[in-house]
Amino acid sequence: MTTTRITAEREAAVVGSVPTGLWIDGTSRPATGGATFPVHDPSTGEVLTEVADASPEDATGALDAAVSAQKQWARTPPRERGEILRRAFELMSARADDLALLMTLEMGKPVAESRGEVAYAAEFLRWFSEEAVRIAGRWSVAPDGASRLLTMKVPVGPTLMITPWNFPLAMGTRKIGPAVAAGCTMVVKPASQTPLSMYALAAIMQEAGLPDGVLSVVTTSRSGAVMGPMISDPRLRKLTFTGSTEVGRRLVEQSAEQLLRVSMELGGNAPFLVMADADVDAAVSGAMLAKMRNMGEACTAANRFLVHEKVADEFASKLAARMSQLRVGRGTEPDVQVGPLVDEPSLNKVSSLVQGAVDAGAKVLAGGEPVGSRGWFYAPTVLADVPDNAAMLEEEIFGPVAPVVRFASTEEAIARANDSPYGLVAYAYTRDLSTALQLAEELDTGMVGLNRGVVSNPAAPFGGVKHSGFGREGGTEGIEEYLETRYVGIEA
Ligand code: NAP
Repeated sequence: MTTTRITAEREAAVVGSVPTGLWIDGTSRPATGGATFPVHDPSTGEVLTEVADASPEDATGALDAAVSAQKQWARTPPRERGEILRRAFELMSARADDLALLMTLEMGKPVAESRGEVAYAAEFLRWFSEEAVRIAGRWSVAPDGASRLLTMKVPVGPTLMITPWNFPLAMGTRKIGPAVAAGCTMVVKPASQTPLSMYALAAIMQEAGLPDGVLSVVTTSRSGAVMGPMISDPRLRKLTFTGSTEVGRRLVEQSAEQLLRVSMELGGNAPFLVMADADVDAAVSGAMLAKMRNMGEACTAANRFLVHEKVADEFASKLAARMSQLRVGRGTEPDVQVGPLVDEPSLNKVSSLVQGAVDAGAKVLAGGEPVGSRGWFYAPTVLADVPDNAAMLEEEIFGPVAPVVRFASTEEAIARANDSPYGLVAYAYTRDLSTALQLAEELDTGMVGLNRGVVSNPAAPFGGVKHSGFGREGGTEGIEEYLETRYVGIEA
């Protein structure tokens, strides 16, 4: 929580310090014809600034820069690549306050949370600065003794990175860190709602010593039309995407044309299981994190609270009490804990999911309606006895709403948890070791939080299964997404 008031002058200064042109080949330049589009403050709906609106030709210019920088960048010593990342980590950390305020202004989350994201985002750069010098291969003798087998790792090559608005910096550094470490060049296309954080990061990467052309940033209000030609360009070698399953599916289809290497971090519908033997107070604290981080606008947000019938009433009433105490408001105001949703369609979607559940018989224990008449605020909400046919149990809510559903046995809990096309993360609270192991083994997700409401960690492999995508970001696995294996057979 922040306790000091942020002035309008400081807000304007932070926004004004960001380059808003297309970042191509190390310079900030206007889009063809000087086209721009507005960036809004979701707490007021007002325009913060305008950024360059790229044409397909501008995007091709960014790919040209990535292609011409690729060879030299791949030859740059790993230690040098690592040290650039390390310097960028230091710069981000030193400027955390400005970066956090910028993120809050364009995205809405409270400044304290934005500061948490800046630290998390910078940590990917530090982690991969350490991985850059640990790229290794293998040497062996062929079983028949006739040759030697050398296995080496080489950078995949020019990569397109498309990122969402909900974590404007971290979803970028989770890709940029390993790509820089591996020796890939890249073009980043941030979400049109939150382009400013990525432009600020591009300038920091340059200041840290990243050569021109290695990282370009392209913003556009016509993502499909502008990214399409780049995805079909045979010079592009990889597409990595974080965003909705719907758009991800379309991008996988498009990337089939050039058979690109593809990584997909897509939507989720995380179940949060509270078993009969759980420490209910710990589960409520974990639920607050799993639900309310980022106002519920996270792919990892707990979407369904599956609670054993013995503890369901206690859990739901304690959760409702904690949710009701949260302070909703503009993210720059002192002590605010819940900011606005990102835009009006998001607010409308959350409202209609809640209304649908209530119409189907759910009981409102906390919240249940929008807040205020300006900006896109929704009250932290807890719903009990949510019927199985409520749409919010199947769709990503992407808002501060916790539906509670009862179960009677561990088998039923696992079956309900797995009854979703998504498989990003599941959370489970239990004090029983056998139950914990059974859940870790049988929950069909890429990640499991056991007695923990947050799983994200730069040192761990983040990613999903089923409609939540494929590929892993972070951990020792993260750099593999940017490396190809090359085998050399040697006879001597
Ligand atoms: P989105 O609508 O899929 O957009 C994501 C990005 O894709 C944005 O940069 C968007 O640009 C771009 N885009 C949209 N249509 C495109 C197209 N036809 N061609 C190329 N690019 C296109 O998702 P979002 O609403 O920003 O983000 C929320 C979603 O992301 C949720 O489903 C959430 O679960 C998921 N997410 C997943 C993870 C994970 O790691 N698994 C992490 C965070 C978020 P515009 O902004 O210009 O539309």
